[in-house]
Amino acid sequence: MSWSNEQTHQIIEQFWRDGTASCPEDNGPLKLRLHKLYGGDYDLLAECLYCGKSKGLRRADDPRRSQFRRWTPREMEHLGQLARENEHADCPVCGANVERLEALTTEPGRVVVRCLRCGNSNQWGQIHLLTAANLLRTPGATRARKSCRVTRVQNRRSKSETVS
Ligand SMILES: [Zn+2]
Ligand SMILES: [Zn+2]
Repeated sequence: MSWSNEQTHQIIEQFWRDGTASCPEDNGPLKLRLHKLYGGDYDLLAECLYCGKSKGLRRADDPRRSQFRRWTPREMEHLGQLARENEHADCPVCGANVERLEALTTEPGRVVVRCLRCGNSNQWGQIHLLTAANLLRTPGATRARKSCRVTRVQNRRSKSETVS
């Protein structure tokens, strides 16, 4: 058994707001493990210590997913500025805490900032611009590429064998 979609949304919302979350079913403390995946996605494993329900959560499960958009160049600039000044910054798109990643850049005076919740980064932003430029050169390509992502529900059924 796992949580309903609505309960899952509650957990995600709570996690990004407070850094912790409790089980929507019994208010038990959730064990949360966040894995940052290569390429900017994440995997958040939530497990209730009371009822034992657990679920792996992704950005695709986020209740605010439909509101996610790219940072504008202006927002990117502003966030970069705050990072250089060591200031705390919240993401203008989803409200989560924006991370500073100094290790990722070798250029002096440049900081990479990213928001793990909605997947924005000034680093990936540049990559995004490059691909957008490529698409412009081939008219029709943008239209043909339908951005419809199918979330596959993984229904892994494990048969437990009972020894009689
Ligand atoms: Zn629970
Ligand atoms: Zn964000």
